[in-house]
Amino acid sequence: MDAAALRRLIHNPPPPVLPRKLKEQDDDFIKEECGVFGVYGHPEAANLIYLGLYALQHRGQEGAGICCSNEDALTTHRGVGLVSDVFKPHKLARVKGHLGIGHVRYSTFGKNNLKNVQPLVADYAKGSMAVAHNGNLVNAGALREELEEQGAIFHSTTDSEVLVHLISRSRGTTFADTVIEALSRVEGAYSCVIMNTDEIVAARDPRGFRPLWLGKLDNAYVVCSETCALDIIDAEWVREIEPGEVLVINKSGVHSIRPFEQKQHQRCIFEFVYIARPDSDVFGGSVDEVRKNLGRELAAIEPVEADVVMAVPDSSNPAALGYSHASGIPFDMGFIRNHYVGRTFIEPEQGIRDFGVKIKLNPARSAVEGKRIVLVDDSIVRGTTARKIIKMLKRCGAKEIHFRISSPEIINSCFYGIDTPNPERLIAHNMNRNEIRDFLGVTTLAFLSIEGLVRATGMESDSFCLACFNNKYPTPTPKDYVLTNHRTRHIDHSTDLTLPGVEV
Ligand code: AMP
Repeated sequence: MDAAALRRLIHNPPPPVLPRKLKEQDDDFIKEECGVFGVYGHPEAANLIYLGLYALQHRGQEGAGICCSNEDALTTHRGVGLVSDVFKPHKLARVKGHLGIGHVRYSTFGKNNLKNVQPLVADYAKGSMAVAHNGNLVNAGALREELEEQGAIFHSTTDSEVLVHLISRSRGTTFADTVIEALSRVEGAYSCVIMNTDEIVAARDPRGFRPLWLGKLDNAYVVCSETCALDIIDAEWVREIEPGEVLVINKSGVHSIRPFEQKQHQRCIFEFVYIARPDSDVFGGSVDEVRKNLGRELAAIEPVEADVVMAVPDSSNPAALGYSHASGIPFDMGFIRNHYVGRTFIEPEQGIRDFGVKIKLNPARSAVEGKRIVLVDDSIVRGTTARKIIKMLKRCGAKEIHFRISSPEIINSCFYGIDTPNPERLIAHNMNRNEIRDFLGVTTLAFLSIEGLVRATGMESDSFCLACFNNKYPTPTPKDYVLTNHRTRHIDHSTDLTLPGVEV
């Protein structure tokens, strides 16, 4: 691509073209991967949330928002883009109060508009509320139809908006009661922070798909997706919020409620593989340690003679180190990563995604030339990234490439908050191992087994959701709910252009 074409792409990204299949399957419009953060009882709540969202940026790069309360009114600022794009100092300074919540968002096709950026904020009969949600609600489509039939008007295409409507309609007396009633109607994954002007309610679904932590900073309480967000503000790690637990945080402290029927835990094992940051602890384990174990497990599969172990940075660094420790093959930084670009996977258009791989990673020629390389990556989704990376290594003179994946083949979509595409776009859904090896052009290819993956966590296999690997979904999926309304939605692209965000 020449320089002029590059400039055109950067300044005038092509309008999102929805592949035919995505238009047909409405459930593809409700998948989101996100990070949440809440603070109660600190005069600088907005600044703390800003820092927390910074630490959670890896969980979502397409939109960010903060809503705070001074007990009189909610003030919100939201925008499309990275936390640093959305929150310029003067914008952040306008969000005031000692309690608040924030959200970073990561979306699939057609949804990166401001209407979908959270926290979702609404005024209703009992005051004002704001909702920040990580996970996906599998019955959101069905609930939305029911609510629309009763006259509800939806503003976004995000599944989380059903929570706003359900809370507003609840007859519960306290705010917490209304949130609990709303949550009792939804099925699927939620780790969420929901506030009104006076209090924050934090909740994790009974299966505990997504992580959620409680922390403390002086007299203030903090709730967030991962511990790396507690570290950035020097908050103490108190504990993980349990699956099925609801915390009500207000003037009288933190109250724990367990209003829902207990369910078999189904924690998302992909948090360990890719999503969470290695400096976080989630689900009672260190992500870094588990990833190193994944690499150790991988080294035992189809061992090879090689000169060097390399990672596809950054997410695969710990697994590659684990591989190197177990195999005795030295680790080297074969790829240099440009840290000033976002993750490539999220780019909503194929052309931009391919371009992204090249600007993100470049091999260090001297580390590659003439070498027999074990290349470790955390996962293969569509194979697009891997194919390009391998081409780059070959161009730099790699002698052999033994590609090792620290997770099993992804054969199915996730309905619980990970942005995995439709199965027909997953390479392992369409090709067997040898076909993938040939398609990628590597010397050998090995994936970790499901058993090896679980073993690396040191936890029980039945406490994890493994649906993307084994097709065993722990809940009904969106396809199990019959939707009858017409599915036309208003997609407002004009808000995409509002990069710095708007005051709500
Ligand atoms: P692909 O080109 O689709 O095969 O992308 C695979 C790469 O994307 C892997 O190297 C992962 O590091 C990364 N990845 C895997 N799962 C996800 C996800 N859910 N969201 C964003 N990136 C991902």
